[in-house]
Order: sequence, then C-alpha cells, then structure tokens
Amino acid sequence: MLEELQKLKKLQKCDALIYQREDELDTLPEENDSLERRIKEMENKITELRNGVSIQDEERKKREDILNRGEDKLKGITGKQSAIRNKDEYNALLREIDNIKRFNKEIEEEIAEIGREVDLKSQELGLVEQDNLKKIGEFKHKLADNLKRMKTLENDIEKMYDERDKVAAAIRPAILRKYERILESSKTGKAIAEVDNYICHGCNMTLPPQLYNNVLKSERIETCPNCQCILLPAENRKNDKKGPVIREASEQPAEDEE
Ligand SMILES: [Zn+2]
Repeated sequence: MLEELQKLKKLQKCDALIYQREDELDTLPEENDSLERRIKEMENKITELRNGVSIQDEERKKREDILNRGEDKLKGITGKQSAIRNKDEYNALLREIDNIKRFNKEIEEEIAEIGREVDLKSQELGLVEQDNLKKIGEFKHKLADNLKRMKTLENDIEKMYDERDKVAAAIRPAILRKYERILESSKTGKAIAEVDNYICHGCNMTLPPQLYNNVLKSERIETCPNCQCILLPAENRKNDKKGPVIREASEQPAEDEE
C-alpha cells in the first residue's frame, strides 16, 4: 500500500501544479478586461479634450474670417470719402465707419477670449496626454504580457494533464477514485497529506495515536478525520518521540485493501 500512496503523492504533485496554473489562468481574463477598460477611458478623455480644443479653434477661425471681412469693409468705406458731396453724407459715413469699428472690436475681443480658452484647454490636454499616454503604453504592454502568459499557461496545463494521465494510469482504479472524490470536494486542491509526529500536515490537527500508527503501518488507506486528506507517513520523519513506530523497514505493502 505504501507504494500506491507514493504514487498518489506523485499524482498530488501533478494536480497541485495544474491547480496553481489553472488558478492563475482564471484571474488573467478579468485583469485584461480591467486593463482594456482603463485604456479606453484614458483614450476617451484625450479624444474629448482634443475635440474641445478643435471646436474652439474652429470658432476662432470663423471669427477671424468675420474680422477680415470687417477690416476689408472699413478699407472700402474709407475709399468712398472722395465721393462725398455734403455734410449729411459725411456724417452718415462717419457713423458707418464707427459702427464697423465697434463691430470689429467686439469680434477682436471674442477672438482673444476664445484664444485664452484654447490655451487653457491645450495646457490641460498636454498634461493629460503626457500622463495618460505613458499609462496607456504601460497597460498595453501588460495586456500583451498577460496574453502571452495565458498562452504559456494553456500549453503548460495541457502538457501537465498528459503527465498526470500517465501517473494516474499506474494507480489502482479504486484508490484513484477515492483520491479523486476527496480532491473534488477539497477546497484547497489537496487530497493527500503527510503525517509526522501525530500531526496531519494537511490541516495541522493532532491525530489519534491508533490512527497515526495505522498510517505508519500503511496497510490500508487512512484519511484525516478533519481535512479528509488521504494520509501518508512523511519522508524523513525525525520527530517520532512520543509514540511507538510500528512499521518495519522490510514490511511489504498489504495488497488486500482497495
Ligand atoms: Zn488533516
């Protein structure tokens, strides 16, 4: 039976490695979703600010066109002075020149106001770009790393299952079934525990002396009453001071148990 237990121990090693990698593989898609979400948010923020700046820029250009036309009009009207025939016409012309000048000045003020807003928004855009573009780069890098890691884990797990199948094939079916039943209901991914000096290393509980002695004899499969793990004597036990060691080195594993 000890030989079968040793095979189970080997199987447990395979399963622990698979468990660990599957656990890691499980966490990665969620992490990637979160990275993608944050990248999108930062990209959206940059786009929003860029759009804001370009809308204001458009507004400024429109007003600059209006101002250009206003200045042309002013030049045109100054040229009409020679055609003036009386005082009324002269006064009317002065009024029109005044109106155009006032209008142009208002437009100039609007252009300056928009210019200040564009400057502020451009500054904010610059800061956000500097910060976000760096982070986006890092997140994209992490995302690519994760995808690569997932591929590696998937390949590893596939190979480990092949190895596990080989180890499992050498174990007596009834024992294998018992092991797998315990593993399925285990919360820790463990179905085997070594015992040393009356202590189950699966859960650190002290075992009853009779059970402990049975484990050392390894004549049949014994399980921990607390964590349900299949128990096997620890290799290199050094602490057996309290109780008798019953098993002899030459003792053969019993074959009559399942
Ligand atoms: Zn235990």
